[in-house]
Amino acid sequence: TRFTIAIVGRPNVGKSTLFNRLAGKQLAIVEDTPGVTRDWREAAGQLGPLRFRLIDTAGYEDSYDDSLPARMRQQTERAIEEADLTLMVVDARAGLTPLDETFARLLRKGSRPVVLVANKCEGRAGEPGLLEAYALGLGDPIPFSAQHGIGLSDLYDAIVEHM
Ligand code: GDP
Ligand code: MG
Repeated sequence: TRFTIAIVGRPNVGKSTLFNRLAGKQLAIVEDTPGVTRDWREAAGQLGPLRFRLIDTAGYEDSYDDSLPARMRQQTERAIEEADLTLMVVDARAGLTPLDETFARLLRKGSRPVVLVANKCEGRAGEPGLLEAYALGLGDPIPFSAQHGIGLSDLYDAIVEHM
């Protein structure tokens, strides 16, 4: 089977923008089936010469408080389980929130590799958030901008290390 990369993180950090940037052909919208939460988007992803299966999690973009809704947690856990590598995305402009910490905790529990992506890092507004991201305990964050295509070669280096 194909090397699978899951994109996780709280709403509005830019997961889908990253997904769209790496997605070639959309493969499927995997619908939720009763008892099993897994309604996510899948695509054939591509980054330079790398080819992989890409999962975008959480279509529930309503605003949440600090708690992680059960459904989002389930979906994230499932995606992480299926993935060979997880991209954890944070919003460097917004800075870290308690919900980011919750996601990070979930990922630190797992044994599979995680690459931390500090998105929205174009310009200087992301610098404080980028530095904060080191504290998540998921390794060095990659300064990235999904919207502007910044950081793709660093992301490539980080992914290829695990493939
Ligand atoms: P998701 O909820 O994590 O899937 O986030 P989305 O991909 O839907 O993006 C949420 C918002 O952040 C949208 O308004 C995007 O246009 C914006 N966004 C995504 N990537 C970037 C980025 O690199 N820089 C900035 N400034 N905004 C971004
Ligand atoms: Mg999204």
